Amino acid sequence: MISRKRLRYSHKIEEKSDPFEGLPDDLVVCILSKICSSATCPSDFISVLISCKRFNRLGLNRLVLSKAGAKLFAIRAKNWSESAHRFLKQCVSAGSVEACYFLGMIRFYCLENRGSGASLMAKAAIRSHAPALYSLAVLQFNGSGGSRSDKDLRAGVAICARAAYLGHVDAIRELGHCLQDGYGVRQNIAEGRRLLVQANARELASAFPSVTLSPPCPRSSVTSYSGGLHLHRYSNAEQQIMTTTLCPGSGLGSGCVLWSDYGCIVPVPEPRPENQFLIEWFGMKGGDPGPGLRMCSHSGCGRPETRPHEFRRCSACGAVNYCSRGCQAHDWKLRHKWQCTPAEVWPNEVVGGVGHGGVLVGQGGGNEVVGS
Ligand SMILES: [Zn+2]
Ligand SMILES: [Zn+2]
Repeated sequence: MISRKRLRYSHKIEEKSDPFEGLPDDLVVCILSKICSSATCPSDFISVLISCKRFNRLGLNRLVLSKAGAKLFAIRAKNWSESAHRFLKQCVSAGSVEACYFLGMIRFYCLENRGSGASLMAKAAIRSHAPALYSLAVLQFNGSGGSRSDKDLRAGVAICARAAYLGHVDAIRELGHCLQDGYGVRQNIAEGRRLLVQANARELASAFPSVTLSPPCPRSSVTSYSGGLHLHRYSNAEQQIMTTTLCPGSGLGSGCVLWSDYGCIVPVPEPRPENQFLIEWFGMKGGDPGPGLRMCSHSGCGRPETRPHEFRRCSACGAVNYCSRGCQAHDWKLRHKWQCTPAEVWPNEVVGGVGHGGVLVGQGGGNEVVGS
């Protein structure tokens, strides 16, 4: 009996002297904020929350949730639930800009709550969230959630320019096409091409982290971006052979390759968590977003039409349609280049290479997106 009492007593002393319990809450919140912002998947953070009562209490602190990084919300569409929705709402009210954008995309496209979705995206965009700005520009260009007359090209260009200024590659490319074609803005072919070169160079540079880029919109030639890289340009035939060998089915994912406009291989970027969610969400519905509606043909996008004939189609074949020029450019390099035009009529050198203005292959092949 005495020995048991002594044991309990010594156990209490041990608990009291636990150094973890001695840490002030502020310090624990600071550590949890770091974990929350650098989590590579939702389970990283969930496993912290369930590890002890103190982490569970402090982990849901507003300060911690406000720091949530994009990958924390990489929820699988099949795991979507009311509790996942509640957690996202909690992060939104804590001020997480990533949660605003992620939930905005889900509400707009998946839950078809257009007003709430667009306003959440706008909330993120106001805080200079580049993907949110770009997504809002796509909404404006397409008049998504409204009628054809709701298209506002000038607003689309203005928002796109803001995202481009922040270095968003698809926005730079979109803006380049707008300027080149005089779409929603006064035509300026030279400036448009300069932006297309910049988008391609940034895409290439992102595959080679050692290459440093100048600040956005510099007036420099593309050769300055390729510093030290020895790139081999492949012919169209070589590209097709290597793509079908390295990337059967031309699906997305690590290990897959994307042909840069300079004719060299760069890895295909992983879809962002919100795009992955949309892909899975509509994939569960057999890729059918509703009667008369189509999905964006770029397999890494996942955006559906919100009204029939909303997206623009490829003018060369008319068989594919895209939410944006960014998606068209990705899909062209990934697979459509070989599906759109018969191989026999490929020109040998349609690709504008380094030092030749870097013309987008989609343009060189006469493959433009037009309103359907
Ligand atoms: Zn798209
Ligand atoms: Zn086509």
